[in-house]
Amino acid sequence: MRTDSCRKCGTGLEIKQTCSVCKKPIKFECRECKRESDEQIHSVCRLVDMNYRPQISEAV
Ligand SMILES: [Zn+2]
Ligand SMILES: [Zn+2]
Repeated sequence: MRTDSCRKCGTGLEIKQTCSVCKKPIKFECRECKRESDEQIHSVCRLVDMNYRPQISEAV
């Protein structure tokens, strides 16, 4: 799993949030300056996620 380092202080970023569909990290946070990176939106995963939810609620 690839993690970027902070542009400000060079510290390795911790994974803050992972994609619920593909489980890849989409958001990072620097432990040193507590700066969160921008969330990486997976447009394809979002579509998959939105398509799954109605199906689950219909089945229940
Ligand atoms: Zn930093
Ligand atoms: Zn994804």
